[in-house]
Amino acid sequence: MTSHASRVLVLNSGSSSVKYQLLDMTDGTRLALGLVERIGEETSRLSHTPLVSGGAKREHEGPIADHEAALKAVATELAADGLGLDSPELAAIGHRVVHGGLKFTVPTVIDDAVLAEIERLVPVAPLHNPANITGIRTAQALRPDLPQVAVFDTAFHTTMPEYAARYAIDVATADAHRIRRYGFHGTSHAYVSRQTAALLGKDPAETNVIVLHLGNGASASAVAGGRCMDTSMGLTPLEGLVMGTRSGDIDPAVTFHLKRVAGMSADEIDVLLNKKSGLLGLCGDNDMREIRRRIEEGDERAQLAFDIYIHRLKKYIGAYTAVLGHVDAVAFTAGVGENAAPVREAAIAGLEELGLAVDAGLNAVRSDAPRLISPEYSRVAVAVVPTDEELEIAQQTYALVNA
Ligand code: ADP
Repeated sequence: MTSHASRVLVLNSGSSSVKYQLLDMTDGTRLALGLVERIGEETSRLSHTPLVSGGAKREHEGPIADHEAALKAVATELAADGLGLDSPELAAIGHRVVHGGLKFTVPTVIDDAVLAEIERLVPVAPLHNPANITGIRTAQALRPDLPQVAVFDTAFHTTMPEYAARYAIDVATADAHRIRRYGFHGTSHAYVSRQTAALLGKDPAETNVIVLHLGNGASASAVAGGRCMDTSMGLTPLEGLVMGTRSGDIDPAVTFHLKRVAGMSADEIDVLLNKKSGLLGLCGDNDMREIRRRIEEGDERAQLAFDIYIHRLKKYIGAYTAVLGHVDAVAFTAGVGENAAPVREAAIAGLEELGLAVDAGLNAVRSDAPRLISPEYSRVAVAVVPTDEELEIAQQTYALVNA
């Protein structure tokens, strides 16, 4: 590789979308970012924002048939900004891969064997891994000479002790079907737990953090000295917290009941629990801004949805305090965690016995910077720490290809 190659393209390929960022790793500067949505439809949309030399956001609408066409369109946009993918300055492409199973505990340079293993995990990640594979193959075809790196959402959680990772079901059945708790959002939990230690001026190896990643998908993790001890998502991202459209924890017998009594198929139940539940199922809205607006107007359904969301969050804060024994900080991150002061206030309210408190004035401040929102006297710090999964993927990719 040429020594001056310092750019990394980060690709996050979903089933009908591709999100991307191009970063310069000499200082982590973002050069461009964008999103292709509704791939395969007539109304596909590409929005591209160059972040160098004052370029403005450009949007295109019109059919983009598949991931290959999407990535070619992205390449054309980047080339127009002088950031073409054929540039010798591009060092690697980093791919977000959702499921790495137990095998992938660290970022990995992709070869045929790695791709085959990601493919072998499709049965446990049917919604995500196929799209990730398509993204990788497309990028390989575009730049076959370039290192492509997979950064796994599950990797950070592979340190979970066996007693946290196993479900209490028949071991032979579980092992035959690779049923266990894998956890997701790992890139974010890793990044945020480290940033939280930095905010406290502490060594991550000596800091215990409860990370609450509250986006449309949401998960909590208990991190001790940089190692994940437990996380709320399981075999799939359905377990744990109440999310935008996912139920989080329920009695598994609800699923047999829906099958036997309501006559629903496995696929229908899957859609119900993943896409029509959570905040959306409870009150008809999954956006926390809209729910807060309705609550301000006295809407009781929105209030109940909010209360259920907060109740679950509190249970995880309590549980992970017990798992860690000693907690240095609780960190809120992602769309809801970074922006919704009422969620932070309500989740911490009444937890003084756990050493937790929020200062109303600090909590109300809006900022993009990592910050403390707990009062001086709080035994455990409460923090808002913006996540940056793309930067983390780029850093891990760059470190690997330069190792
Ligand atoms: P994901 O990556 O899971 O799609 P994000 O981390 O971007 O999600 O979070 C998206 C969610 O963040 C939105 O659904 C919305 O509920 C919430 N959100 C964003 N801004 C605000 C805000 N100002 N107040 C409350 N919630 C917000």
